[in-house]
Amino acid sequence: MTTAMANEELLARIKEDELVRLCQDMVRIKTVNPPGNERENADYIAAYLRKIGLEVEILSHTDTRATVVARLKGSGEKPGLLYSGHLDVVPVGAQEWLHDPFGGEVIEGKLWGRGASDMKGGNAAIMVAAKVLAEAKVPLKGDLILNFNAGEEGEQLGANAAAAHLAGERVQAVVIAEPSSNDVYIAEKGAFWLELTTYGKTAHGSTPHLGQNAIMMMVSLLSEFDRLAVPYQEHPLLGGFTRSINTITGGVKTNVVPDLCTVTVDQRTVPGQDHRAILRQVEDLISDLSGKIPGFKASVKVINDRIPVASDPEETVVQRFFDVVGEVSGKRPEPKGVAYYTDAVSLVPALKAPLIICGPGEARLAHQPNEYVEVARLVESAKILTLAAARLLT
Ligand SMILES: [Zn+2]
Repeated sequence: MTTAMANEELLARIKEDELVRLCQDMVRIKTVNPPGNERENADYIAAYLRKIGLEVEILSHTDTRATVVARLKGSGEKPGLLYSGHLDVVPVGAQEWLHDPFGGEVIEGKLWGRGASDMKGGNAAIMVAAKVLAEAKVPLKGDLILNFNAGEEGEQLGANAAAAHLAGERVQAVVIAEPSSNDVYIAEKGAFWLELTTYGKTAHGSTPHLGQNAIMMMVSLLSEFDRLAVPYQEHPLLGGFTRSINTITGGVKTNVVPDLCTVTVDQRTVPGQDHRAILRQVEDLISDLSGKIPGFKASVKVINDRIPVASDPEETVVQRFFDVVGEVSGKRPEPKGVAYYTDAVSLVPALKAPLIICGPGEARLAHQPNEYVEVARLVESAKILTLAAARLLT
């Protein structure tokens, strides 16, 4: 199936109206997380994939939440390929939208709605790619595995279940159709978020000497914390480690000495950094300050822990995927990375395969009001995913 002629025949099977209908149907299924309610969308995808002859399994999380794992069987001569997406979307937000966020309206080549970009458009492209390969009866030497996860925007409920379900499976790559405007990202930063709390003793605001001020303890802690040198090596695709103190709460009333102050810290890590070592550094700082400042008491808690993931740009599978994108879009990608995290955090360690992020959505529209996906990009994405599977699995 690698001849130009065969490619043309295969790609001619991709129908724009079907892609649009799938994406519209799924935008209209509300999967706002929290609470998620992904089961209805999971059932919709399962029905579509069963109809075209795939083996489909539903991984059930709760009555209302589920994840899909499906397979287009190959002969087993080659390792498979995983195409993955997530079913949940972020809330609509307070701002008024130009179009109904759950309407899926198509206006001047754009399909509007929450999740159109992130990432029901990508899911629709994956589904159509599988359908084209199944209907054309392309003789696959490896399995094309499809996975649609609940709970990506938060706890990675579905990806953890799918990773456990698929652990040890031989795949050439983990391809995630998150919004990239059909460009390719092969690395993502880790996230290691901390909550720091200081504990004081309350007293009337007019007699501060009788209390211990948790906010002033936090001032001492943060000034030292901000100065800690965190070791890392600049990554060629991801850059460096970042840290930002982004929330602070403390105190209840102007005339009461605060006994509690809490901040949360967003840290983004790069390959080679050990999250445990970063935590130990903060714990050591707290115990050091406890010895220096009378009455100082503080704690640190990890509130989000996702490892960084990076593929080697020279990996054959990555280069071949770049070739396909270049053929379809006319622009061969350069290796790049992203600062956000995806379900790769769970899937890549379980499958031990390179990560490729490539999807039709606009990355800059993710989590924004007035989200849309361009219909032309949906078609282009289905072409990329169809051709990449045909190349890598035959
Ligand atoms: Zn996403």
